[in-house]
Amino acid sequence: MISVEQAIQIISNNVDATSVSREINISVALDYVLFDDVISPINMPPFRQSAMDGYALHLHDTKEYAIVGEVKAGDHHQPHLKIGEAIRIFTGAPVPDSANAVIMQEKTNVVEDSLRIQTEINTNSNIRQLGEQVMKGEIALKMGTKLNPASIAFLATLGITKVKVYKKPAISIVVTGNELAEPDSSLQYGQIYESNAVMLSTSLKQLGYNEVTMHKVNDDYGNTLSLLDRVISENDVVLVSGGISVGDYDFVGKALNELDVKELFYKVKQKPGKPLFFGKKESKIIFALPGNPAAALSCFYLYVLLALELLSGNVIFSLHRTQALSNSDYIKRGDRGQFLKAIYDNGKVEILDGQSSSMLHTFALSNALVYLSETAESITKNDQVEVILLPIN
Ligand code: AMP
Ligand code: MG
Repeated sequence: MISVEQAIQIISNNVDATSVSREINISVALDYVLFDDVISPINMPPFRQSAMDGYALHLHDTKEYAIVGEVKAGDHHQPHLKIGEAIRIFTGAPVPDSANAVIMQEKTNVVEDSLRIQTEINTNSNIRQLGEQVMKGEIALKMGTKLNPASIAFLATLGITKVKVYKKPAISIVVTGNELAEPDSSLQYGQIYESNAVMLSTSLKQLGYNEVTMHKVNDDYGNTLSLLDRVISENDVVLVSGGISVGDYDFVGKALNELDVKELFYKVKQKPGKPLFFGKKESKIIFALPGNPAAALSCFYLYVLLALELLSGNVIFSLHRTQALSNSDYIKRGDRGQFLKAIYDNGKVEILDGQSSSMLHTFALSNALVYLSETAESITKNDQVEVILLPIN
């Protein structure tokens, strides 16, 4: 059995960014990662811009200026100012080449065509310089940048409408279990409603993975084998739920072995989520997650997401971790690493009751996991603990 840290290392060592790229419109590029550096086709700003409503000046050594014209945002003309002259100007308007400062209107007195300034003003004040954000031909955004609304809008300011990004993986979710009832059916004795498929598919969607298909199979070796064979060939990533433990009706491990999926690890010294499998068949990535829902979701955040981000070109991905003061006592039993469902708020964290790997209710209330390493001791209130913030808000 390997440690949590080894499991993360094995994933990092075995998942490379895909070599497949796509050119897509920026309006649908949220959460994609840039495949190449983006070179700016223009200077930004493309002209010297006024940063204020006020007056553009050709500075001289008294405080009186003659107002000789006006330029508003969107105007194209370029009045020529002589020393001691000013024009009315507005935010975003082009500053004439002959002006060397802008003064905000609140710091001026105007009587008819005569402007008196009330403060000292330096050359280039309140002027956004040509190309001060990025010059034409410079790198605007580097390859590996994960696009967010700000970076997408920045590309839009440069007139860029298409970007080359890493392809996102096609992902298939396979849930196993004879006991799993369909959502709209009435429960027979011994059945539970299936919840892992919707849990994983909505997690994927929230994190920007939209090419997802879902399948269900009963605890039958032949059916499991043929379904896994098909979904591995049709997808980049397969997430199997359940059937990976040691029970007589757990067929996933045997089927993956039969399909020549190379095991990179099986079983992590952690709680929840010990029977976690990670393997590859050529470039295809396969995780078999424990069926217990809270364990499956922990494994998703801690391991699957890392693999998906690496595959999608986000090579610097890691979950946000912080230190916090525990509001709770917690008795640690055993020598496995533990991920405890918790609520983090402003430097403090409350470890919730109900840490069993079957308990989704606790997960539903959580926004964080407290991580106790294999060697960590029990927690006493006000101890400093390590917190992993869940990527859910
Ligand atoms: P397994 O990993 O198949 O041994 O399942 C472990 C536990 O998780 C059992 O109590 C299962 O009933 C439950 N379980 C497995 N798969 C699901 C699922 N898709 N939705 C909800 N519970 C599940
Ligand atoms: Mg099962």
